[in-house]
Amino acid sequence: MNTFSELGISDAYVKALKELNIVKPSEIQKAVIPKLLGTKTDLIGLAQTGTGKTAAFGLPILHTIDANRPVVQGLIIAPTRELVQQIKKQLFKFTKYIDEKIFVEGVYGGEMIGRQMKALKRPTHIVVATPGRLLDLIEREAVDISKVKTLVLDEADEMLSMGFKEELHKILQYNKTKRNTWLFSATMPDEIKQIVETSMSPDAIKIQVNKNSLVNENISHHFIKTKIPDKTDLIARILKKRKNERGVIFCRTKAGTQNLVKQLKDKGYTVGALEGDMLQKERDKVMRAFKNEKLQILVSTDVSARGIDVNNLAFVLHHQLPDQMHYYTHRSGRTARGGKTGQSIALIIPGEMQKVIDTQKALGIVFKEIVM
Ligand code: AMP
Repeated sequence: MNTFSELGISDAYVKALKELNIVKPSEIQKAVIPKLLGTKTDLIGLAQTGTGKTAAFGLPILHTIDANRPVVQGLIIAPTRELVQQIKKQLFKFTKYIDEKIFVEGVYGGEMIGRQMKALKRPTHIVVATPGRLLDLIEREAVDISKVKTLVLDEADEMLSMGFKEELHKILQYNKTKRNTWLFSATMPDEIKQIVETSMSPDAIKIQVNKNSLVNENISHHFIKTKIPDKTDLIARILKKRKNERGVIFCRTKAGTQNLVKQLKDKGYTVGALEGDMLQKERDKVMRAFKNEKLQILVSTDVSARGIDVNNLAFVLHHQLPDQMHYYTHRSGRTARGGKTGQSIALIIPGEMQKVIDTQKALGIVFKEIVM
Protein backbone atom coordinates (compact mmCIF):
# COMPACT_ATOMS: atom_id res chain seq x y z
CA MET A 1 0.00 0.00 0.00
CA ASN A 2 1.83 3.00 -1.25
CA THR A 3 -0.75 5.76 -1.22
CA PHE A 4 -2.93 7.33 1.44
CA SER A 5 -6.05 6.42 -0.60
CA GLU A 6 -5.04 2.77 -0.41
CA LEU A 7 -4.71 3.11 3.37
CA GLY A 8 -8.34 4.26 3.49
CA ILE A 9 -7.91 8.02 3.74
CA SER A 10 -10.70 9.91 1.95
CA ASP A 11 -10.05 12.06 -1.12
CA ALA A 12 -10.43 15.48 0.50
CA TYR A 13 -7.70 14.63 3.00
CA VAL A 14 -5.48 13.14 0.30
CA LYS A 15 -5.73 16.41 -1.61
CA ALA A 16 -4.67 18.46 1.43
CA LEU A 17 -1.81 16.04 2.18
CA LYS A 18 -0.56 16.42 -1.37
CA GLU A 19 -0.35 20.17 -0.91
CA LEU A 20 1.80 19.54 2.17
CA ASN A 21 4.04 17.27 0.11
CA ILE A 22 2.86 14.27 2.08
CA VAL A 23 2.28 11.76 -0.70
CA LYS A 24 4.00 8.52 0.19
CA PRO A 25 2.93 7.12 3.57
CA SER A 26 5.74 6.65 6.08
CA GLU A 27 6.36 3.33 7.84
CA ILE A 28 4.30 4.20 10.90
CA GLN A 29 1.50 5.63 8.77
CA LYS A 30 1.31 2.42 6.75
CA ALA A 31 1.22 0.34 9.90
CA VAL A 32 -1.17 2.42 11.96
CA ILE A 33 -3.71 4.12 9.67
CA PRO A 34 -5.51 1.02 8.28
CA LYS A 35 -5.78 -0.44 11.79
CA LEU A 36 -7.21 2.73 13.30
CA LEU A 37 -9.62 3.38 10.44
CA GLY A 38 -10.85 -0.18 10.21
CA THR A 39 -11.52 -1.07 13.83
CA LYS A 40 -12.35 0.51 17.15
CA THR A 41 -9.22 -0.41 19.03
CA ASP A 42 -6.65 0.68 21.58
CA LEU A 43 -3.19 1.09 20.16
CA ILE A 44 0.36 1.36 21.43
CA GLY A 45 2.76 2.88 18.93
CA LEU A 46 6.47 2.75 19.63
CA ALA A 47 7.89 5.38 17.34
CA GLN A 48 10.38 8.18 17.25
CA THR A 49 9.50 11.75 16.67
CA GLY A 50 9.90 12.82 13.05
CA THR A 51 8.50 9.58 11.65
CA GLY A 52 5.13 11.05 10.68
CA LYS A 53 3.37 10.11 13.90
CA THR A 54 1.09 13.13 13.89
CA ALA A 55 -0.56 12.16 10.61
CA ALA A 56 -0.60 8.50 11.71
CA PHE A 57 -2.98 9.31 14.57
CA GLY A 58 -4.26 12.68 13.30
CA LEU A 59 -5.90 11.44 10.10
CA PRO A 60 -7.72 8.54 11.81
CA ILE A 61 -8.92 10.77 14.65
CA LEU A 62 -10.30 13.28 12.12
CA HIS A 63 -12.15 10.38 10.42
CA THR A 64 -13.87 9.51 13.73
CA ILE A 65 -15.37 12.96 14.23
CA ASP A 66 -19.08 13.54 13.68
CA ALA A 67 -19.01 17.23 12.75
CA ASN A 68 -22.75 17.60 13.43
CA ARG A 69 -22.25 16.92 17.14
CA PRO A 70 -20.76 20.03 18.78
CA VAL A 71 -19.02 18.11 21.60
CA VAL A 72 -15.40 17.21 22.27
CA GLN A 73 -14.97 13.77 20.67
CA GLY A 74 -11.19 13.64 20.32
CA LEU A 75 -8.58 14.54 22.92
CA ILE A 76 -4.87 14.66 22.16
CA ILE A 77 -2.44 15.15 25.05
CA ALA A 78 1.15 16.16 24.34
CA PRO A 79 4.07 17.27 26.55
CA THR A 80 4.79 20.83 25.43
CA ARG A 81 3.10 23.95 24.22
CA GLU A 82 5.13 23.87 21.02
CA LEU A 83 4.05 20.32 20.23
CA VAL A 84 0.41 21.14 20.97
CA GLN A 85 0.56 24.06 18.57
CA GLN A 86 2.20 21.93 15.88
CA ILE A 87 -0.37 19.15 16.17
CA LYS A 88 -3.23 21.64 16.07
CA LYS A 89 -1.78 23.34 13.02
CA GLN A 90 -1.25 20.04 11.18
CA LEU A 91 -4.82 18.88 11.86
CA PHE A 92 -6.13 22.24 10.64
CA LYS A 93 -4.17 21.91 7.41
CA PHE A 94 -5.34 18.32 6.85
CA THR A 95 -8.98 19.49 6.94
CA LYS A 96 -8.59 22.19 4.28
CA TYR A 97 -10.76 20.44 1.65
CA ILE A 98 -13.27 18.48 3.71
CA ASP A 99 -16.96 19.45 3.34
CA GLU A 100 -17.92 19.78 6.98
CA LYS A 101 -16.04 21.89 9.50
CA ILE A 102 -14.05 20.15 12.23
CA PHE A 103 -13.00 22.53 15.00
CA VAL A 104 -9.70 21.88 16.78
CA GLU A 105 -8.61 23.89 19.82
CA GLY A 106 -5.16 23.92 21.43
CA VAL A 107 -4.75 24.60 25.16
CA TYR A 108 -1.49 24.81 27.10
CA GLY A 109 0.18 26.48 30.04
CA GLY A 110 1.96 29.81 29.73
CA GLU A 111 -1.01 31.55 28.14
CA MET A 112 -3.92 33.32 29.88
CA ILE A 113 -6.42 30.64 30.83
CA GLY A 114 -9.33 33.08 30.30
CA ARG A 115 -8.71 33.23 26.58
CA GLN A 116 -8.69 29.44 26.36
CA MET A 117 -11.85 29.15 28.46
CA LYS A 118 -13.60 31.52 26.09
CA ALA A 119 -12.34 29.66 23.02
CA LEU A 120 -13.65 26.37 24.43
CA LYS A 121 -17.17 27.82 24.66
CA ARG A 122 -17.35 27.65 20.88
CA PRO A 123 -18.20 24.27 19.35
CA THR A 124 -15.03 22.17 19.57
CA HIS A 125 -14.56 18.64 18.23
CA ILE A 126 -10.92 17.98 19.08
CA VAL A 127 -8.90 19.38 21.97
CA VAL A 128 -5.09 19.26 21.85
CA ALA A 129 -3.62 19.96 25.29
CA THR A 130 -0.71 19.82 27.67
CA PRO A 131 -1.59 17.75 30.78
CA GLY A 132 -1.37 20.47 33.44
CA ARG A 133 -3.50 23.03 31.65
CA LEU A 134 -6.03 20.42 30.57
CA LEU A 135 -6.53 19.29 34.16
CA ASP A 136 -6.96 22.89 35.25
CA LEU A 137 -9.62 23.44 32.58
CA ILE A 138 -11.41 20.20 33.49
CA GLU A 139 -11.49 21.18 37.15
CA ARG A 140 -12.86 24.62 36.26
CA GLU A 141 -15.50 22.85 34.17
CA ALA A 142 -14.35 24.80 31.13
CA VAL A 143 -14.01 21.64 29.09
CA ASP A 144 -16.18 18.53 29.09
CA ILE A 145 -14.29 15.40 28.16
CA SER A 146 -17.09 12.98 29.04
CA LYS A 147 -18.02 12.44 25.38
CA VAL A 148 -14.49 11.76 24.20
CA LYS A 149 -14.38 8.71 21.93
CA THR A 150 -10.66 8.78 21.19
CA LEU A 151 -7.86 9.82 23.50
CA VAL A 152 -4.31 10.13 22.19
CA LEU A 153 -1.26 10.30 24.44
CA ASP A 154 1.56 11.62 22.29
CA GLU A 155 5.19 11.34 23.42
CA ALA A 156 3.97 9.64 26.58
CA ASP A 157 7.51 8.97 27.87
CA GLU A 158 8.28 12.68 27.61
CA MET A 159 5.18 13.60 29.57
CA LEU A 160 6.21 11.27 32.36
CA SER A 161 9.80 12.43 32.45
CA MET A 162 8.49 15.99 32.72
CA GLY A 163 6.62 15.02 35.88
CA PHE A 164 3.07 14.85 34.52
CA LYS A 165 2.34 11.39 35.92
CA GLU A 166 -0.28 12.49 38.42
CA GLU A 167 -2.02 14.79 35.94
CA LEU A 168 -2.21 11.99 33.37
CA HIS A 169 -3.67 9.51 35.82
CA LYS A 170 -6.26 12.06 36.92
CA ILE A 171 -7.24 12.90 33.34
CA LEU A 172 -7.58 9.21 32.48
CA GLN A 173 -9.85 8.87 35.52
CA TYR A 174 -12.03 11.84 34.54
CA ASN A 175 -12.83 10.30 31.20
CA LYS A 176 -14.38 6.99 32.09
CA THR A 177 -16.64 6.62 29.08
CA LYS A 178 -15.96 3.85 26.65
CA ARG A 179 -13.20 5.31 24.60
CA ASN A 180 -10.25 4.18 22.55
CA THR A 181 -6.82 5.12 23.76
CA TRP A 182 -3.91 5.49 21.36
CA LEU A 183 -0.57 5.81 23.12
CA PHE A 184 2.59 6.87 21.33
CA SER A 185 6.01 6.80 22.92
CA ALA A 186 9.62 6.56 21.83
CA THR A 187 10.52 4.34 24.77
CA MET A 188 8.60 2.03 27.13
CA PRO A 189 9.68 2.70 30.71
CA ASP A 190 7.82 0.97 33.57
CA GLU A 191 5.61 3.97 34.21
CA ILE A 192 4.23 3.70 30.67
CA LYS A 193 3.63 0.00 31.08
CA GLN A 194 1.63 0.90 34.19
CA ILE A 195 -0.59 3.29 32.20
CA VAL A 196 -1.05 0.61 29.57
CA GLU A 197 -2.08 -1.92 32.21
CA THR A 198 -4.45 0.33 34.12
CA SER A 199 -6.00 2.40 31.35
CA MET A 200 -5.90 0.41 28.16
CA SER A 201 -7.46 -2.72 26.76
CA PRO A 202 -5.43 -5.95 27.06
CA ASP A 203 -6.19 -6.41 23.35
CA ALA A 204 -4.47 -3.17 22.38
CA ILE A 205 -2.65 -3.42 19.07
CA LYS A 206 1.11 -2.93 19.39
CA ILE A 207 3.05 -1.34 16.57
CA GLN A 208 6.76 -0.70 16.48
CA VAL A 209 8.67 1.02 13.73
CA ASN A 210 12.44 1.27 13.31
CA LYS A 211 12.67 -1.97 15.23
CA ASN A 212 16.40 -2.47 15.01
CA SER A 213 17.37 0.93 16.16
CA LEU A 214 15.92 3.18 18.82
CA VAL A 215 16.98 6.15 16.77
CA ASN A 216 15.66 7.29 13.38
CA GLU A 217 17.74 5.45 10.78
CA ASN A 218 18.20 8.50 8.57
CA ILE A 219 20.47 10.12 11.15
CA SER A 220 24.24 9.61 11.02
CA HIS A 221 26.15 9.96 14.28
CA HIS A 222 29.48 11.68 14.78
CA PHE A 223 31.78 12.94 17.49
CA ILE A 224 34.57 15.51 17.51
CA LYS A 225 37.28 15.43 20.17
CA THR A 226 37.94 18.75 21.87
CA LYS A 227 38.63 20.42 25.24
CA ILE A 228 36.27 22.57 27.29
CA PRO A 229 37.99 25.94 26.62
CA ASP A 230 38.08 25.21 22.88
CA LYS A 231 34.39 24.36 22.48
CA THR A 232 33.05 27.77 21.46
CA ASP A 233 35.72 28.31 18.81
CA LEU A 234 35.17 24.82 17.49
CA ILE A 235 31.42 25.41 17.23
CA ALA A 236 32.06 28.68 15.40
CA ARG A 237 34.27 26.82 12.91
CA ILE A 238 31.62 24.13 12.41
CA LEU A 239 28.96 26.77 11.78
CA LYS A 240 31.18 28.63 9.37
CA LYS A 241 31.71 25.49 7.33
CA ARG A 242 27.99 24.86 7.35
CA LYS A 243 26.83 28.39 6.78
CA ASN A 244 24.11 27.28 4.37
CA GLU A 245 22.71 24.75 6.81
CA ARG A 246 20.53 25.13 9.87
CA GLY A 247 20.62 23.20 13.09
CA VAL A 248 20.05 23.02 16.82
CA ILE A 249 22.80 23.11 19.45
CA PHE A 250 21.95 21.42 22.73
CA CYS A 251 23.35 22.65 26.04
CA ARG A 252 22.73 21.04 29.40
CA THR A 253 21.95 24.21 31.37
CA LYS A 254 19.95 27.39 30.86
CA ALA A 255 22.96 29.53 31.76
CA GLY A 256 25.16 27.58 29.35
CA THR A 257 22.59 28.14 26.61
CA GLN A 258 22.49 31.92 27.09
CA ASN A 259 26.25 32.09 27.40
CA LEU A 260 26.85 30.24 24.14
CA VAL A 261 24.28 32.37 22.32
CA LYS A 262 26.04 35.53 23.46
CA GLN A 263 29.44 34.25 22.36
CA LEU A 264 28.18 33.12 18.96
CA LYS A 265 26.32 36.39 18.41
CA ASP A 266 29.55 38.26 19.19
CA LYS A 267 31.17 36.21 16.44
CA GLY A 268 28.49 37.31 13.99
CA TYR A 269 26.23 34.24 13.81
CA THR A 270 22.43 34.52 13.73
CA VAL A 271 21.50 32.44 16.74
CA GLY A 272 18.64 32.41 19.22
CA ALA A 273 18.22 30.84 22.67
CA LEU A 274 15.36 28.67 23.82
CA GLU A 275 15.24 27.80 27.51
CA GLY A 276 12.73 27.50 30.30
CA ASP A 277 13.50 30.73 32.14
CA MET A 278 12.55 32.79 29.11
CA LEU A 279 9.07 34.31 28.93
CA GLN A 280 6.69 32.37 26.72
CA LYS A 281 6.43 35.42 24.47
CA GLU A 282 10.19 35.41 23.95
CA ARG A 283 10.23 31.69 23.27
CA ASP A 284 7.50 32.07 20.65
CA LYS A 285 9.40 34.90 19.01
CA VAL A 286 12.59 32.86 18.77
CA MET A 287 10.74 29.82 17.41
CA ARG A 288 9.03 31.98 14.79
CA ALA A 289 12.34 33.49 13.70
CA PHE A 290 13.92 30.04 13.51
CA LYS A 291 11.04 28.57 11.51
CA ASN A 292 11.10 31.55 9.14
CA GLU A 293 14.81 30.95 8.61
CA LYS A 294 15.80 34.30 10.07
CA LEU A 295 18.02 32.41 12.51
CA GLN A 296 20.58 29.86 11.36
CA ILE A 297 20.94 28.24 14.73
CA LEU A 298 18.82 27.56 17.76
CA VAL A 299 20.64 26.91 21.04
CA SER A 300 18.40 25.04 23.44
CA THR A 301 18.14 23.00 26.60
CA ASP A 302 16.66 19.52 26.42
CA VAL A 303 13.32 20.48 27.90
CA SER A 304 12.65 23.43 25.62
CA ALA A 305 13.41 21.58 22.42
CA ARG A 306 11.05 18.67 23.03
CA GLY A 307 8.80 17.94 20.13
CA ILE A 308 10.05 20.80 17.97
CA ASP A 309 9.33 20.09 14.32
CA VAL A 310 11.27 22.37 12.02
CA ASN A 311 11.82 21.25 8.46
CA ASN A 312 15.19 20.89 6.84
CA LEU A 313 17.45 20.92 9.87
CA ALA A 314 20.73 19.47 8.62
CA PHE A 315 22.33 18.80 11.98
CA VAL A 316 22.08 18.64 15.73
CA LEU A 317 25.13 19.54 17.77
CA HIS A 318 25.62 18.31 21.33
CA HIS A 319 27.70 20.83 23.26
CA GLN A 320 27.97 17.95 25.69
CA LEU A 321 26.34 14.54 25.57
CA PRO A 322 23.19 14.42 27.72
CA ASP A 323 23.19 12.68 31.10
CA GLN A 324 20.27 10.49 30.23
CA MET A 325 20.36 8.28 27.20
CA HIS A 326 16.81 8.93 26.06
CA TYR A 327 17.65 12.60 25.62
CA TYR A 328 20.13 11.62 22.93
CA THR A 329 17.28 10.04 20.99
CA HIS A 330 15.07 13.06 21.41
CA ARG A 331 17.81 15.56 20.62
CA SER A 332 18.95 13.86 17.46
CA GLY A 333 15.33 13.45 16.37
CA ARG A 334 15.19 17.19 15.62
CA THR A 335 17.04 16.42 12.38
CA ALA A 336 16.22 13.93 9.60
CA ARG A 337 12.52 14.67 9.76
CA GLY A 338 9.98 13.64 7.13
CA GLY A 339 12.24 11.09 5.44
CA LYS A 340 15.24 13.40 5.04
CA THR A 341 18.76 12.69 6.32
CA GLY A 342 20.63 14.53 9.06
CA GLN A 343 23.72 14.50 11.23
CA SER A 344 24.03 14.35 14.99
CA ILE A 345 27.41 15.62 16.19
CA ALA A 346 28.68 15.38 19.76
CA LEU A 347 31.60 17.37 21.20
CA ILE A 348 33.65 15.01 23.33
CA ILE A 349 36.25 16.00 25.91
CA PRO A 350 39.00 13.66 27.19
CA GLY A 351 37.41 11.03 29.42
CA GLU A 352 34.06 11.06 27.66
CA MET A 353 34.78 8.33 25.09
CA GLN A 354 33.17 5.78 27.38
CA LYS A 355 29.95 7.72 27.10
CA VAL A 356 30.12 7.47 23.32
CA ILE A 357 30.62 3.73 23.60
CA ASP A 358 27.75 3.38 26.08
CA THR A 359 25.47 5.38 23.82
CA GLN A 360 26.36 3.20 20.84
CA LYS A 361 25.55 0.05 22.77
CA ALA A 362 22.35 1.29 24.36
CA LEU A 363 20.85 2.71 21.18
CA GLY A 364 22.27 0.33 18.59
CA ILE A 365 24.01 3.06 16.60
CA VAL A 366 27.57 3.68 15.41
CA PHE A 367 29.49 6.95 15.84
CA LYS A 368 32.12 8.11 13.38
CA GLU A 369 34.84 10.56 14.33
CA ILE A 370 35.12 13.89 12.51
CA VAL A 371 38.58 15.44 12.66
CA MET A 372 38.48 19.23 12.36
P1 AMP B 1 5.90 14.05 12.90
O1 AMP B 1 6.69 12.81 13.18
O2 AMP B 1 4.44 13.79 12.87
O3 AMP B 1 6.29 15.17 13.82
O4 AMP B 1 6.24 14.52 11.39
C1 AMP B 1 7.49 14.97 11.01
C2 AMP B 1 7.45 15.79 9.73
O5 AMP B 1 7.31 14.95 8.59
C3 AMP B 1 6.32 16.81 9.64
O6 AMP B 1 6.85 18.03 9.18
C4 AMP B 1 5.35 16.22 8.64
O7 AMP B 1 4.65 17.20 7.92
C5 AMP B 1 6.25 15.41 7.74
N1 AMP B 1 5.60 14.20 7.21
C6 AMP B 1 4.72 13.41 7.85
N2 AMP B 1 4.38 12.35 7.10
C7 AMP B 1 5.05 12.48 5.94
C8 AMP B 1 5.12 11.70 4.73
N3 AMP B 1 4.40 10.57 4.58
N4 AMP B 1 5.92 12.14 3.74
C9 AMP B 1 6.65 13.27 3.88
N5 AMP B 1 6.63 14.05 4.99
C10 AMP B 1 5.85 13.66 6.01
